[in-house]
Formats: sequence, structure tokens, C-alpha cells
Amino acid sequence: MHAGDDAITLHSGVTALPGVAERVAASLRSLGIRTVADLVRHLPIRYEQDLGEQTAEQARASAREDGVVGEMSARGMITAVRHIPGRRPRVEATLEDESGSVRLVWFNAPWIARRLRPGLRGVAQGKAKSRAGYVEMSNPRWRDEAPSEGDTPIAGRLRPVYAATEELSSLRIESFLKAALPHALPLIDDPVRAVIVARHGLPPLADAYRMVHLPADAAEAERGRARLAFDELLLLQLGLAMRRWQARHQERAVSLPRTEAIHQAIVDRFPFEFTPDQMAVCDEIAHDLAATAPMNRLVQGDVGSGKTAVALYAALLAIAHGHQAAIVAPTELLAEQHFRNVVALLRESRVRFRLVTGSLSARERAEANAALAGGQVDLAIGTHALLGEGVQFRSLALAVIDEQHRFGVEQRAALRAKGDGHMPHMLVMTATPIPRTLSLTLFGDLDVSSIRALPPGRQPIATRVMPRSRSAEVYAYARTRIDRGEQVYVVVPAVEESDQGLADVASHAAALEAGPFAGLTIGQMHGRLAPAERDAVMSAFKDGRTQVLVSTVVIEVGVDVPNATVMIVEHAERFGLAQLHQLRGRVGRGSKASLCVLIGDPTADDGERRLKAMASTTDGFAIAEEDLKLRGPGEFFGTRQSGLPPLRVADLTRDTALLLAARDEAQRAIDASPSLSDPVDERLRRKLMSTYGDALGLADVG
Ligand code: ADP
Ligand code: MG
Repeated sequence: MHAGDDAITLHSGVTALPGVAERVAASLRSLGIRTVADLVRHLPIRYEQDLGEQTAEQARASAREDGVVGEMSARGMITAVRHIPGRRPRVEATLEDESGSVRLVWFNAPWIARRLRPGLRGVAQGKAKSRAGYVEMSNPRWRDEAPSEGDTPIAGRLRPVYAATEELSSLRIESFLKAALPHALPLIDDPVRAVIVARHGLPPLADAYRMVHLPADAAEAERGRARLAFDELLLLQLGLAMRRWQARHQERAVSLPRTEAIHQAIVDRFPFEFTPDQMAVCDEIAHDLAATAPMNRLVQGDVGSGKTAVALYAALLAIAHGHQAAIVAPTELLAEQHFRNVVALLRESRVRFRLVTGSLSARERAEANAALAGGQVDLAIGTHALLGEGVQFRSLALAVIDEQHRFGVEQRAALRAKGDGHMPHMLVMTATPIPRTLSLTLFGDLDVSSIRALPPGRQPIATRVMPRSRSAEVYAYARTRIDRGEQVYVVVPAVEESDQGLADVASHAAALEAGPFAGLTIGQMHGRLAPAERDAVMSAFKDGRTQVLVSTVVIEVGVDVPNATVMIVEHAERFGLAQLHQLRGRVGRGSKASLCVLIGDPTADDGERRLKAMASTTDGFAIAEEDLKLRGPGEFFGTRQSGLPPLRVADLTRDTALLLAARDEAQRAIDASPSLSDPVDERLRRKLMSTYGDALGLADVG
């Protein structure tokens, strides 16, 4: 140890470590590593099994089918050194041991030839593969070594692989960690109570860091990772539990108790009986609405499961108490559809409702705002414009956010400002069922209700995957359905002609008109149409004036045309699983048997898996689980959309058990102390605030 070693602490700059000069420190900085603590937190991205010392024959015999042997060391004598000129000049050497020979190859490293000569003994270490029966190591590290009696062979081990840079290899980073850990580990203070850590059989924090950086074996590396993942999940769940507690105790909503009379009056409005699932969700909502703590509830139910009826039930309950309700849809089209449903349902009631979208003129807008603020509107239906600044309600008691799985903390905060001193009760509806692990994280501060069964009388939707070579048959069959009076959706991936040869709306519609759909009226729809045009196109389809609708995915959510029975998706392999499921949900909404045809020639594995999954189930919950597996949690909704910092260690597709453990512990801790104010938890609380305080809008009262 050199003189300065004693001074190394977690806060030391990396230059305190031996071998880290300013240039190296700059490279480390580009990886986000400034201090010793940063270095310790720089976790391996994966591990490689180093086979240790292998004889030429052992290595040859252990090669996989694709020739890969792996990381290994070869010990022996150099018997030949050759320069091979060319565009990629290389040096080749032959290393012999008693079992055979290994070829060593270095590219662009002429200096190595000066170090090697026949007769030299030593060890080469690096990646080996078997080629045409001989073993080759490319760019191995070389060290001279005279043979000595009783040499123990170099042992194999699990080698961590770190995110590295051009100038700074994973191996160098590993060497810095080896230097840093003996100083750093004893200084690591575990912020989580030992009883909690022990309850889940996890190692103390310092041990966990040792295990991930210097694992004895794969099981140990996993044990260390599990502890770090647990901490990450615990912190998140603490934030969510604290957020739930604060929402419940610090924000007040108006109490909207349900009476038998109110209940009867509401259900009598509907032309159908609520399904048991719908009724159960209505009961949960009614229970929430009766309290003065604001409701924060997510209703998930597959497309067509009847979420809108549930939303209206809640809205009418609020209105029965003389308060206002708002239904917010992600697009104008959907807002308008809700509006039409509401018109049909409430025409003869005294409920005053109004559509408020971005396409109102300035005068209409001002008038609508005045009506909302003055309380002349009971039920406002619109887009996010409704929650915009400058929109005031007289007494907004309930906000329904429809088809929305990206309703972040910020938007919820905007709601708070609308409630006349009260926080409106909030109901979020999503047709994208959310795997449990995700709903516990992204929506961990919401209570979740599920509608699983569809309303009675629905015909199951058949799904077929067809190669493009057979699309003529598909359209010919669709034509027979149209000739029977049914309607057809055709979804294409592009709005405009593209150079990738993808079908676009206009050309595809033209091709259909000139071919299989000759003589039919074909509507065209895409996101670039003005809202009024879109509305016209959609109404024409809804009313049966057009028989075919060629569209991009804009018809994805919520649109309801019961007479449409065939959905054809072109280039289906290009769509995500959740998206395909949503599209399929556009048909099968009436009493006739429906069909979804996915035309595609998947070239990649995941494309094929998506289409297979679609063909094998229509259960949105099963689709969601598969989607999560295929895409990974980060991609699933886009963690950015949730407004939360991404998880670095935990993997929601496999850490379900850890997540549930963390959630339990977090709830227990917040129940015991809502602001985590026990001095024992001081470091945990500070970490919590710095990580999630802003993102979750936590009030720090510690
Ligand atoms: P989503 O859950 O996709 O929003 P909707 O609320 O749009 O579903 O409902 C889909 C269709 O089912 C609508 O036409 C609606 O009128 C109808 N529906 C909803 N609930 C029932 C029910 N209990 N019985 C019969 N039809 C229903
Ligand atoms: Mg809906």
C-alpha cells in the first residue's frame, strides 16, 4: 500500500486510487464515475465465465457448436511467429503445450512481434474459439512465465463485464474496483434495517457489493444483485406508500355517499344490465367516493369490456350530489364518441353535459369555460384541454381519465387545482391490461379494479396470421362479408408513401378500389386529418355510408362500430403486441362473428412471437404479460412517461417476488411512521426524498 491509501473514502475522487491518473479519471467521468462511491455503484452489465487454464486439447473439445470456447488461459511455449500483411495486418503465433497447439492472433499490434520469439514460455489469456479443428485466441493478453515445479493451473472464475469506453476497458475498471473495494466496503453503511434485510434472506449491503463485483460463482452474483434490486424496489415502494398515505390524509375530497335511490336512478338509465364484473367495480368506486379521502383508482378492462358504463355510473353519482364530473379522453375522436353515448343515454335526463375539445372556437371556448366555472355544466366531456390551465370548475368532484396509462404525477397535480379547495376523486381507465408487477410500480399509488368478463352476447374474435403472398385471398373473403352488409377495417403502417415499401393509406385504398373492393365506398383516415375531417370520415363509417375504412393506427383506441366485423392489418409484424390487441378490439363489438387477419412476414423472432401470441389468445391480460416479457419493462409504457426515474438493477419481468417483499416492507414502515421519521431510518428517508421526492410530489415532513 502506498502512502495515500489510508485517505481513501467513499467520497474520495477516483484519482485517489492507485493507477488512476487524470486521463483515466476523465474516461471514468464519461461513465458517470467521479468518486469511489460512484465506482462501487458501477455494476457489471453481465458476467462471463472464465474457463481458467485449458490445454489445447481441452479447449478444442469444449468448443460449442458455433466454435466458441470462451475466456481461457493457455500456457506453453511459442514455436513460431509470423507477420501477415494486408489490409488488416496481423501477427500470428503458435503456442504449444503437451496436448497440441493454440494459434494466437493479434490485429494491428506490430509491437507484439517484438516481444515474442520461438522458445519463449508464457501464458495467453483471452477469448478462444475453435476454427476448422484448431483453437484460436484473438488479441489475447500475454505474459512471459518460466515454468516452475508444482504450478497450480490458473483457476476459472466468473468475470464481471462492465460498461466501458474506447480508452478504458472493462478489465481496467475491474482492476480499479479491486483496489477500491477493500477501502470502500467497510465504510458502507446499510440504510435498510438489518431485520428487514434478514427477513428476506438478503446479504448486508457491503457484502452485496462485494458479491456483484467479485462473485465466487453465479449464485453469489445473483444474491448480491437481488439485494441491490430489493433496495431499489423498496425505495420506490416507500415513495408510493408515502404518496398514498399523504393523498389519503392530506388531501380532502367531497364525500359522495351512494343511496339505494341514487343507485336505482342511475342503473335505470342504462339500456342493459351491468355485468357482475362491472357492478363489482361500481361498488368499489362507490365505496371510495363515500370517503373524504380522494379516490385514486385504476379500472383496467379489455377493449369492449364496458368501462365507459362504469365511468358514467361514477359520474352520475357525483352529479346526483350536485357536483360536477369530467371525462377526459386522449383524442377528440374518443371524446366525441363518449359525448354521443352520453347524449343517447342522458337525453331525457336533467343532467347538463357539454363537449369541450381543442377545436372549439375562441368564443365557444370562453362560453364553455364560463359554464364550467358557473356550474351550468354537470358533466364535461373532452380532451386534456379540460385539465388545462385557465379552466375552472365550480365544483369538480370526479375526474375520469379514459384510455390512459400514462397519466403521470404532474397531470394528477393539475387536477388538484380544479377542485374548489377539494381534490377531485380520480378514476383512470385503461384498456391495456397491466401486468401486476407494473401496476404495483407505475401505478403503485392507485387502487386497481379489473373487469375481466365481457358483456354477454359477444362473439369471440377469430384471429389468423397470413403471409403477404396470400393477401388476395384475404381481401376476396373480406369482400364476401361486405357483400353481406358487414364492414371492414384495413390498417396500414404508414400515412404517406414511404421508401420502405410499406403500405400507406391513400395508395392502399386506391389499390383496393381498383382491385378486390371495386365498386365499394372506401373511407380514409389518419392522424394528419383535421379533427373535423376525421370526425366526418368516422361518422360515415359508423353510419355505414362507407363500407371499408383504410386507416393508420389512429383507430386504435376506443372506437365503437358494432357492424364492423373484419379487421385486416397489413405489415402486422411492425406493430407492437398491445397495439395489435387494441386494433383487434375494434371488431367483435356487435353480435356477429368477427375476424382479425394479421398479414405479415415476420423476419425477426420477436415479430413472429407477437403474431403467435395474438393468434393464440384474445385475453388482454395474457397479452400484457407476454408483451412485458417481449419488450421489457422500460419499453412497456416508457418509464419516462410515468415520470419516475428508471430502475437500474431490478427487472420487473423476473423480480416479482422481490417486488412483493419490498411492497410489504414499505407498507409496514409507512404504517408505523408515515414520514419515515424514526432516526434509524434517517438515511433511507433522505435517499427516498432525493430519488422520488419530486417525481412523486412527496411532502417531506421529516
Ligand atoms: P370499453 O371498455 O372498451 O370502453 P365500452 O364501454 O365502450 O367498452 O363498451 C363497449 C360496448 O359494450 C358498448 O357498446 C356498450 O354500450 C356495451 N356494453 C357495456 N356494458 C354492457 C353490458 N353490461 N351489457 C351489454 N352491453 C354493454
Ligand atoms: Mg372505452
